[in-house]
Amino acid sequence: MALKNQYLIDVLETVKKRNAGEPEFIQAVTEVLESLEPVVEKRPELEKENIIGRMVEPERMVMFRVPWVADDGSVHVNRGFRCQFNSAIGPYKGGLRLHPSVNASIIKFLGFEQCFKNSLTTLPIGGGKGGSDFDPKGKSDREIMRFCQSFMTELYRHIGPDTDVPAGDIGVGGREIGYLFGQYKKIRNEFTGVLTGKGLTYGGSLARTEATGYGLLYFTEEMLNVMKKDSVKDKTIVISGSGNVAIYATQKAQQLGGKVVALSDSNGYIYDPNGVNLDVVRQIKEVERGRIKEYVGRVEGATYTEGCKGIWTIPCDIALPCATQNEIDGESAAILVKNGVMAVCEGANMPSTPEAIETYLKGGVLYGPAKAANAGGVATSGLEMSQNSARLSWTFEEVDAKLKGIMVNIFHSAYNAAEEYGFAGNLMVGANIAGFVKIADAMLAQGV
Ligand code: NDP
Repeated sequence: MALKNQYLIDVLETVKKRNAGEPEFIQAVTEVLESLEPVVEKRPELEKENIIGRMVEPERMVMFRVPWVADDGSVHVNRGFRCQFNSAIGPYKGGLRLHPSVNASIIKFLGFEQCFKNSLTTLPIGGGKGGSDFDPKGKSDREIMRFCQSFMTELYRHIGPDTDVPAGDIGVGGREIGYLFGQYKKIRNEFTGVLTGKGLTYGGSLARTEATGYGLLYFTEEMLNVMKKDSVKDKTIVISGSGNVAIYATQKAQQLGGKVVALSDSNGYIYDPNGVNLDVVRQIKEVERGRIKEYVGRVEGATYTEGCKGIWTIPCDIALPCATQNEIDGESAAILVKNGVMAVCEGANMPSTPEAIETYLKGGVLYGPAKAANAGGVATSGLEMSQNSARLSWTFEEVDAKLKGIMVNIFHSAYNAAEEYGFAGNLMVGANIAGFVKIADAMLAQGV
């Protein structure tokens, strides 16, 4: 889709110039701007108030040194980031990622996407993201703790329960949130809901761990119901990754009667034609913090293949990328389509390249974009914030029911917006527009 609106062309040109060398951020902005063309044409005040030009520039981007001491006494330095992208509709909210690939481009693309995703949840949360190029793999618990403490020693001054509430993402789960929370509490002498994804003994919400994966399946189920009069039941499903999102997507897919036949990590993928045994996966990944290839030594009939890309050559009805950005390129998407995939729903953020998305749409594949399909995590984080503010905790069933309601509602917002603006069935355009309108209206109301 090439842009035709001159205002949007100019904004994108500025973004490219100003953020040269940040391909992921430019990719995310381009996709959103292309979707917004019909809204900008319809509402001239958006150009007059330069809403889009303001929206593509983060309100604040903090970069800092994170020094820490390894178990052998050696001293290391990583780079920390917090990008506070947009606070028009609520305090900044978004995860922290710990992965060696983290840089300004990745944090900004994630922060930008987060704004629209958070808006889609209908909860009062703005968009942000953060993290570090620290690699948690192979580090001891003590090293992880010292890193997290050092990271928070700088981050604490930028966040707060009414300012910015970080959560987990790649490399940041319950353990890391615990260490980060402990350090924040020490420095501030305050027990507040400043982070989400906390443990259940200190303010965490039931169902937060499961939320992104479960939400992804609630979205997929609703999409299949409405758009194909079908369901997840009896479908063959391929899921990439084997972290938090992938594990709970697998669990809910199985509960809905689907058969998950593959999972992966950054080294390779397993294929189990009998359907993945999730207890074995959880033992390896959550308890032993091991590698997915260990699965084949424990379950008969399963195979392991080195390399991540091959997972998309496994024939399936539903593909759920739940690992990382740009993991499905045009070539993989073409193979999925050739093999008859009916739906691709994104658990990871921006896992499909623009060429892959074009291939799904041309191939008539139902496509659930990340900012709609994986919003269940942040939505439940929003529910954790509500529980913390009210100093009470809801049951698993209560939170799960709210999560399901939010995901069904997100699907319909995206579906309806796509139809209203002349892109019926295109949930990517619909999600971008539905998420955008609320933020734009809030920015218009609040002045320049
Ligand atoms: P985890 O760290 O729990 O798991 C990440 C999984 O993806 C691991 O299996 C990891 O393999 C794999 N992976 C990570 N980086 C790469 C890479 N460069 N190439 C191939 N595989 C990779 O993270 P989450 O499950 O929390 O996050 C997965 C995705 O979901 C991310 O895109 C994240 O932004 C998105 N997301 C997460 C939410 C949440 O609530 N956690 C909410 C919304 C989106 P390995 O162990 O080998 O690194």
